Amino acid sequence: MTSENGENPENEVFKSFGIDDDDVKILNIYQEEPEITHVEIAKRINKSQPAIGARVTKLQRKHLLATQKGINFKAVRDKMFLLIVDLQTKDPRLIVEGELLKCPFVINVFKRSGTRNMSVLLAATSMAKLEAIIDRHFRSNPAVLGVETSFVVDVLKDFVLPINWEFLRYEDVPCGQICCQQVRKRLHEAPAAGLVKE
Ligand SMILES: [Zn+2]
Repeated sequence: MTSENGENPENEVFKSFGIDDDDVKILNIYQEEPEITHVEIAKRINKSQPAIGARVTKLQRKHLLATQKGINFKAVRDKMFLLIVDLQTKDPRLIVEGELLKCPFVINVFKRSGTRNMSVLLAATSMAKLEAIIDRHFRSNPAVLGVETSFVVDVLKDFVLPINWEFLRYEDVPCGQICCQQVRKRLHEAPAAGLVKE
């Protein structure tokens, strides 16, 4: 398929990422088989091993071949709870600039378009813990206009995310206490860092 100007639109996409067909082959192979060696890839796409090494380094620098170590939720979903919190906020920055990113149970935060303009992905080993976290960070926050939560009941593909194993041990300590301790510690360490005080 070609676009009106005769360019192959797929190549335009590759060009915008600064990669070519061989890079795409390498990316696909790595995504299928993360443990594969440069030697094996070299054999499969008929290039020298140093050429593969140079391409892999380039792809890593471009953040196209990034690695994330963590827990595979698909495999451990009977032991962990994964919660999606959709928020309607006056301004997502008001939430993010607080202590939320320091909360050890927050996996990631998404600023979104639309009325629900923020989503937070949380993980913990108990539902009660997650309820406490929602109360602490969102239900009691005047910048939050609406909170909608839902537990992930199944994950259909491998889903690897980092979790904070240190804090998983403290199921009985309220999230707020942990978060506040973290904020205080950091304020103490770097008082000029501009962290939001409570
Ligand atoms: Zn927290």
